[in-house]
Amino acid sequence: MIDTNDKTQVVVIGGGPAGATVSTLLAQQGVQVELFEREKFPRYHIGESLIPETYWVLKRLNMLEKLKDSPFIKKYSVQFVSDSGKQSAPFYFHDNKDHDCSQTWQVRRSEFDEMMLRNAEEHGVKTHEGVRVLDVLFEGDRAVGVQILDEEGNKREVRADVVVDASGQSSLLLNKLKLRVPDPTLNKGSIWTYFQGAQRAPGRDEGATTVLQVENKTGWFWYIPLHDDIVSVGVVGDFDYLFKNRGSHEEVYLEELERCPGVKQRVENATQVSKVFATKDFTYKAKQAAGNGWVLIGDALGFLDPLYSSGVLLALKSGELAADAIAEGLKKGDTSREQLAGWEADYLVGMERMRNLVCAYYDGFNFGKFVRRFPNHRGDITDLLIGDLFKESLDKVFESIDTMKVESEAMAD
Ligand code: FAD
Repeated sequence: MIDTNDKTQVVVIGGGPAGATVSTLLAQQGVQVELFEREKFPRYHIGESLIPETYWVLKRLNMLEKLKDSPFIKKYSVQFVSDSGKQSAPFYFHDNKDHDCSQTWQVRRSEFDEMMLRNAEEHGVKTHEGVRVLDVLFEGDRAVGVQILDEEGNKREVRADVVVDASGQSSLLLNKLKLRVPDPTLNKGSIWTYFQGAQRAPGRDEGATTVLQVENKTGWFWYIPLHDDIVSVGVVGDFDYLFKNRGSHEEVYLEELERCPGVKQRVENATQVSKVFATKDFTYKAKQAAGNGWVLIGDALGFLDPLYSSGVLLALKSGELAADAIAEGLKKGDTSREQLAGWEADYLVGMERMRNLVCAYYDGFNFGKFVRRFPNHRGDITDLLIGDLFKESLDKVFESIDTMKVESEAMAD
């Protein structure tokens, strides 16, 4: 029998970055939180490259010192290599803001997520690992708690004023309430593994994420240097292209490596140190982020193609916005949709800006050429790449991307 109350103020489903964030920030504001995580940490997870705007939420979480003391590799920039092998100048994050926050980290997620969860506990969150949430309980259209299954196979009900779904791509509530809005233009898949002793850039660029286009632009590789001399190397492409009528994941991975000489050359003297992983990366979002007594955050609210490493930022940001709305609602005695969803519209617009940048890349957008044509947008592009997504001024970038597309089509005619 697990040690949990039958009634609490907030139940959080999932102890990934989103769940750890919302629960820590609620506990900081004096709210009683019970978090249920089906795995025992540390557990493996993909999603290793942070982007700099995570800094502000990590600061509120009191995580910065822990990260500075960790072995995680420092990341100062992102670099792009075209299918012809041409490497753009690195986008250093300090272009706009010469501050601590212009550097971020490449994290092994098993270690990062565990640090975040232990940090939540230090702030007073009651966490339960190895406990699966089976269902969210409703009375009418109001969420009133969850049914859990503990490690010993006991089912229990835990009632709460607010239920936060941070269950990642399991998306418990999004599925239950049929809220999924798929994004068929971004039906991608990924295959990846890890190498030891692979090439690293020297100096400040050691921790850069490099995005390398595959021959004929049929996909791209991520190249993410981690600590202990490990590099995470994965290919992303259209789901059907990668997974239909091809060989095993291992075979496809090797074929794609052959089609990307930049990556092949970086790993040729390295040792592969893990199995090959594969997943679908279908972009989706929920129709709404909150209802009466419930809130969705992180991947449980929406997932965006991993091109610009925005997933953990979005998990942290939505966790932060949800925590503030819930804490305020509990103080006022109002846990209606109106109160809990106050942040939804601006957040989804910010996420859409990142999506537009993703779609532009798949549409042939070239960072180097764009910045040469529109040098005034260099700062805006850096803002998008660091994840500073929530400001209207960035929309002008997309007008210029359209202009450039029209110009290059006219030149091609
Ligand atoms: P998760 O991290 O998935 O956490 C959800 C937790 O909920 C899990 O621990 C799970 O065990 C638990 N859970 C699920 N169901 C239940 C249940 N019923 N009961 C109890 N617990 C439950 N993001 C980046 O920022 N950078 C990257 O470089 C990056 N690369 C990526 C590459 C790929 C191929 C993919 C697929 C994603 C990538 N992402 C990246 C995205 C990133 O992995 C996610 O956006 C991020 O993990 C979301 O955090 P989360 O807390 O919402 O969900």
